[in-house]
Amino acid sequence: LMQLSVPLNFIGFIYREIRQGLTDIEQMFDLLDVPQEIVDRPGAKPLAVGAGKVEFRDVHFSYDPNRKILKGISFEVPAGKTVAIVGPSGAGKSTISRLLFRFYDIQGGKILIDGQDIRDVTQESLRAAIGMVPQDTVLFNDTIAYNIRYGRVDASEEDVRKAAELAQIGPFIERLPDGYRSMVGERGLKLSGGEKQRVAIARTILKAPPILMLDEATSALDSHTEQEIQAALDLVSQGRTTIVIAHRLSTVISADEIIVLQDGQIAERGTHAALMGKAGLYASMWDRQREATEAEERLRIARESD
Ligand code: ATP
Repeated sequence: LMQLSVPLNFIGFIYREIRQGLTDIEQMFDLLDVPQEIVDRPGAKPLAVGAGKVEFRDVHFSYDPNRKILKGISFEVPAGKTVAIVGPSGAGKSTISRLLFRFYDIQGGKILIDGQDIRDVTQESLRAAIGMVPQDTVLFNDTIAYNIRYGRVDASEEDVRKAAELAQIGPFIERLPDGYRSMVGERGLKLSGGEKQRVAIARTILKAPPILMLDEATSALDSHTEQEIQAALDLVSQGRTTIVIAHRLSTVISADEIIVLQDGQIAERGTHAALMGKAGLYASMWDRQREATEAEERLRIARESD
């Protein structure tokens, strides 16, 4: 038992590091090659992905028994549609993405993909079906081409280049002294948050998964970068079932449904127009955000005129 508890504690440690924005969970498990807490059910079959419908049915979850995090969450993302999840910090938004990946098992309810309970299928097939664009992507100490190809290791150079173009990072790479052979990561070129996110989008374009999970960066991006990333995301989510943890108005406006999470429960749901009409939590969130943006803008103009 001692032997087992060490790696589990280690995962806990790594996990907390990840929570601090260090890295991408999916890769971390790959890199560490450590045993995972969740094991496949005996005789688990690969997920049979059809159109890619995702369903949370009365999901209850807590990380530790005395603190409930999700208290009966139900929603459906029809194949090819986009659902945005918004809500205050700590509401449980990222938890939903971790549960869809089955990094943890839920205590009540069901999570289904095309009608199959994710606990009944192999984790490998589950994770192969979902593309994740995290807030903060870890880059390997290798070339930028390698980092993009990670999405599909047998991709040709041409495919890598096309994916980079679609992700709006192509021109940036071509301007680097060594182009696609430039070394990136901790010991190479350091990319900005927006650039790293576009590398993650390029990876996901190569992977071409039926289901997409996007975690938008909370940090402020300049409006040009934001537009570029938005264009790349719109492209990659086209025709794919998409769940986005949204921090920007531009993303949620176009979502088919918006789920407003508060304290582990769905407080409101609907389209942007319907929710704005309600003048509830959602509307007040955006009013506050708009005020903050306007105040920043005034500050910037004042600074520039100094
Ligand atoms: P944010 O917008 O700030 O990222 P969020 O809505 O994504 O917040 P979650 O990350 O889902 O929130 O976290 C929901 C709650 O679960 C938080 O109170 C958090 O402290 C707690 N939590 C998250 N991860 C763990 C963990 N590994 N162990 C215990 N509690 C956790």
